[in-house]
Amino acid sequence: MSVELKYRRILLKLSGEALGPQGYGIDAETVRRIAGEVRRIHELGVEVAMVIGGGNMWRGADAAATGIDRGTADYVGMLATVMNSLVMQDAMEKQGISTRVQTAIEMPPVAEPFIRRRAVRHLEKGRVVILAAGSGNPFFTTDTAAALRSVELNTQVLLKATKVDGIYDDDPMRNPHAQKFDELSYMQALNMGLKVMDSTALSLCKDNNMPIIVFNLRQPGALEAIMRGEQCGTLVRA
Ligand code: UDP
Repeated sequence: MSVELKYRRILLKLSGEALGPQGYGIDAETVRRIAGEVRRIHELGVEVAMVIGGGNMWRGADAAATGIDRGTADYVGMLATVMNSLVMQDAMEKQGISTRVQTAIEMPPVAEPFIRRRAVRHLEKGRVVILAAGSGNPFFTTDTAAALRSVELNTQVLLKATKVDGIYDDDPMRNPHAQKFDELSYMQALNMGLKVMDSTALSLCKDNNMPIIVFNLRQPGALEAIMRGEQCGTLVRA
């Protein structure tokens, strides 16, 4: 069955919070459900790279506020993303998807190091590539790592999964009258000082013309709908 796809290569960014129902730890059923959503688009022939955060276990800035050296705290955060990535890899392989984890900090017994050309080759061969350990540098976020990798791997879009179905003019959890944007420019998003994505990540996307779609992965089928070109979430572009 051939399906009209709007996107053939994507990068999906999940926050660590997405893996646990309360935002902490890892819930096996939640991870399986996410793997199932990714499987649906993988079966359509979409090449998928993923970046997973570590905020369900550790955030460098929060830890630094308790007195731990920020650089050290950030390395701990990057290690948390490796744990999440390995768990996601396991869930996807149990659903029959071939995957590779690549880490920005070398740890050969655990996973391959990030090698851009090798990652592209995996994508071309239909393997889902999970990019772990963020950018490998402290003082960055996994959103910025996701922006960097999407540019490096030449994906057509960066999909940022959140708890809500797009970008609103106010917090929709608190304000029932908050209005959702279907589309925003990079400059509008930057000027709004959005919490949904940090300015370093947004700027990198802007400078490299990488479109971003903010959407809700908890909505079953949303990822597949986006691949088919349906309006879903909020598109940020030039
Ligand atoms: N981190 C880092 N460099 C990176 C990516 C992540 O130092 O390139 C650290 C940072 O301490 C961050 C933590 O890893 O707080 C977890 O990542 P993030 O907060 O982006 O996860 P998310 O909010 O997406 O779950």
